[in-house]
Amino acid sequence: MIDLHTHSNVSDGADTPAEILQKAVQTGLTAVALTDHDTVSGLESFMSAAQNQPILAVPGVEITSMHHYKEVHILGLFIDPESAALKKYLEEIRLDREQRNHQMLERLNIMGFSITEEEVLAKAGGESIGRPHIAQVLVEKGYFPSVNDVFERCLRRGGRAYVQRKPMPPYSSINAIHAAGGLAFWAHPVNAAARVDRSFVRRYLRDMVQQKLDGIELYYPNYGPRHTQVITECAAEYSILFSGGSDYHGEKVRPGIKLGFGDGTLNIPDDLPEKMLKKLGRVL
Ligand code: AMP
Ligand code: MN
Ligand code: MN
Ligand code: MN
Repeated sequence: MIDLHTHSNVSDGADTPAEILQKAVQTGLTAVALTDHDTVSGLESFMSAAQNQPILAVPGVEITSMHHYKEVHILGLFIDPESAALKKYLEEIRLDREQRNHQMLERLNIMGFSITEEEVLAKAGGESIGRPHIAQVLVEKGYFPSVNDVFERCLRRGGRAYVQRKPMPPYSSINAIHAAGGLAFWAHPVNAAARVDRSFVRRYLRDMVQQKLDGIELYYPNYGPRHTQVITECAAEYSILFSGGSDYHGEKVRPGIKLGFGDGTLNIPDDLPEKMLKKLGRVL
């Protein structure tokens, strides 16, 4: 069993990077990737926790990007955590996050919710800060019953306190991942809860494969036969790789999503990392 999509408290997960590695070993995974949103700062402790452990630790990142006004998440796997080019690119994204967080807090205060930047910073474990941390503070201050309620009523896309992020195009995220020696995948191409839009997957995949995308995430929690079929068929037009992961954020943040198991139906083939390394000209 493997898991190539997880988040630590360096972005919006609950566990430290080292805890994710330890849990992966305890669960009996043979490979695990840490893919925090827009930051690589958890990878040093993640990789050192993996030393002398019977597991392949894959350094990764998940970069929020925008194509034709729709958000696409690009996963980088087997990246060099020290890559100056990638770090610079992610810094630019985080600077935009900071400005946007500031604007969202202003709007929330105007709406009558008292919330400060200090409170949000204290909630976040690392440098990649965003809506989940703002929502947690508002829940803890008693304004809303749950994080999901905050999203529904204020922070969802189009919500009253929502501010859009700077739209980084997929090709620049793909390029930054390649500059760091990694492979770029389209993460969760379809929403598991919504109707699958085949023409959307086809168009977006075609555009991003032209921009040198290496693969697509095929194994994801709550994907049913229709999701799998559409992704597989769209991918069949190209010789691209598949990836898979639980998108684990910690049980408290995403109840019911377990490392390696996801919602319980995840069954990610163990040989995906080997195929990825082969494309990179490396061996396991
Ligand atoms: P941001 O990066 O600041 O735009 O925040 C996006 C993150 O918020 C995603 O990575 C999700 O983990 C989280 N998120 C999005 N929608 C919801 C929701 N309805 N409830 C809880 N968390 C959410
Ligand atoms: Mn997240
Ligand atoms: Mn994502
Ligand atoms: Mn994710």
